[in-house]
Amino acid sequence: MTTHQEFFRQQLAVWPLARQNYESQRLARYRDLWFGDACRIRLICLPARIGSSSAKITAKGEVDRPCFLCAHRLPPEQQALPLPGTDDFRLLVNPFPVFPQHYTIPSVAHRPQALLSDLELMFSLAVEMDDLVLFYNGGRCGASAPDHQHFQAGSKGLMPLQCEYPAWKEKGARLLMQTDSCRIYQLAGMLRTGWLIESDTAAAACRQIRCLVQLFGQQVTDEAPESRINLLVWFESSDKRFVALLFPRLQHRPACFYAQGEQQRITSPASVEMSGYYIFPRSSDYEQVTPQELTRIYADVCLPQKDIDAISGRLSQCQP
Ligand SMILES: [Zn+2]
Repeated sequence: MTTHQEFFRQQLAVWPLARQNYESQRLARYRDLWFGDACRIRLICLPARIGSSSAKITAKGEVDRPCFLCAHRLPPEQQALPLPGTDDFRLLVNPFPVFPQHYTIPSVAHRPQALLSDLELMFSLAVEMDDLVLFYNGGRCGASAPDHQHFQAGSKGLMPLQCEYPAWKEKGARLLMQTDSCRIYQLAGMLRTGWLIESDTAAAACRQIRCLVQLFGQQVTDEAPESRINLLVWFESSDKRFVALLFPRLQHRPACFYAQGEQQRITSPASVEMSGYYIFPRSSDYEQVTPQELTRIYADVCLPQKDIDAISGRLSQCQP
């Protein structure tokens, strides 16, 4: 069976647009901002992402354009690789990358985005492709195709919360709950609010994620909480452990996105930005953004601390 790395090489060999975008991505500029000694945010200037960051998506997470993830609309060069353990999803090389290897994993059928119905798949794929981080962006927090179910996967080693795990955990996470196979932490002093889940089994991690999403929906009285979730999942092969980061969201875009003139920043934070890998498509934003502005951006889009605390307090009573 073709591995995802072989598939990636095959696609780049026959697809000039993708090859060019992967090459130009290597020239992206970056600089790091530190907030305390546990929280690093890497700013990246990547002009090719302008379409994604300013995509017109309505408040309900709808888009007004033909679906680009349906098989019959893929460019002629783009192939779809079958995946182990599922007939419902395929692997695609993402032609607009933010990682040295960047994939999209759409469902075969055109159906709206959802997290919980296919949550276990993220975990099984994290084991199959353990050089990648799997991630999900809800329709109201970063997905560019909320009308078509999909996950993404990108190279390990770049996103600060992944590549500096578990070092940042010492100061940036507080243990909430522990079971035989699973530990749940709340992020603390990391600019972003959310939870870190460490688990020896996929089943235990999925159970806790279902609880957190359910409690989030109750806390903010939202019937579609999955559309306001960013989730990252990866597998630590060395100690056979799953790690997940769950970010419930307040807003899709920060206030500065809607500002005028010099105050405006074109940004739509999604899982990658929540992980501390912060992409600005406009070089003026990348150059000018200050630590104070970045703090404000995360505060605008993340769930307030009081709501996080309320959900964390009810976690032990949850029955998924
Ligand atoms: Zn579609």
